[in-house]
Amino acid sequence: MLRSIRYGEADRILHLYSKTQGRFGAIAKGARKPKSRFGGRLEPFFRLDLVLHEGRGDLMTVTGVTTLDGYPRLRSSGPALSAGARACDAMLRLLDSAEANQPAYNLLCRYLGLLDDPGQPRAASLEVALSFRLKLALVAGFAPELASCAACGEAEHLTGFSGAAGGVVCGSCEAGSFGLSEEAHRFMVEAMGKPLAEAPEAEPLALRQVERAVGETLEHHAHVQLRAAA
Ligand SMILES: [Zn+2]
Repeated sequence: MLRSIRYGEADRILHLYSKTQGRFGAIAKGARKPKSRFGGRLEPFFRLDLVLHEGRGDLMTVTGVTTLDGYPRLRSSGPALSAGARACDAMLRLLDSAEANQPAYNLLCRYLGLLDDPGQPRAASLEVALSFRLKLALVAGFAPELASCAACGEAEHLTGFSGAAGGVVCGSCEAGSFGLSEEAHRFMVEAMGKPLAEAPEAEPLALRQVERAVGETLEHHAHVQLRAAA
């Protein structure tokens, strides 16, 4: 569940992302009545097995719900809640098609699982949030070019990043780019290649550059603007 909105007197409109159908919307009638059979499970982050009825409009109607994972520890931690909310928001903005994208579904589930895991104290860090963003850009088909200049293919002297070009750029192609430190470049390469739980470390300045690089790439190529990562 990415988003749950109060609707009418006692209903909820749900924005969901499913493993098999991608993004869809549903309505849960009577979900806000005190004795609703849906209980308190129609809330963001819940991983659910839903029984759905196809109605007349765009929205499916929820007729049954089983909880697969409620991530209870995530819900009791402010930083984890905030990180989870930003992740769901990024999914809403970037993955809006009713087309299955199992890697995207799995990525979000892994991130929520990490945020729920008491053995993962770094899970709510900016490093992991930015690694999630990079991986989300990758599974959505908007990964920045990091191996060579996105404008001319040059493999050396990569000193800038250009959202318009969609990746790192060399000294000769740096018009319209911003300076990207070696540390920020290394962070992006490592974050894309490693599991979320092993997100690399980096200094705040480098992390700001990474956030800007991902943000500008998605603005230019996916036409979406993400909220601040932290
Ligand atoms: Zn170049």
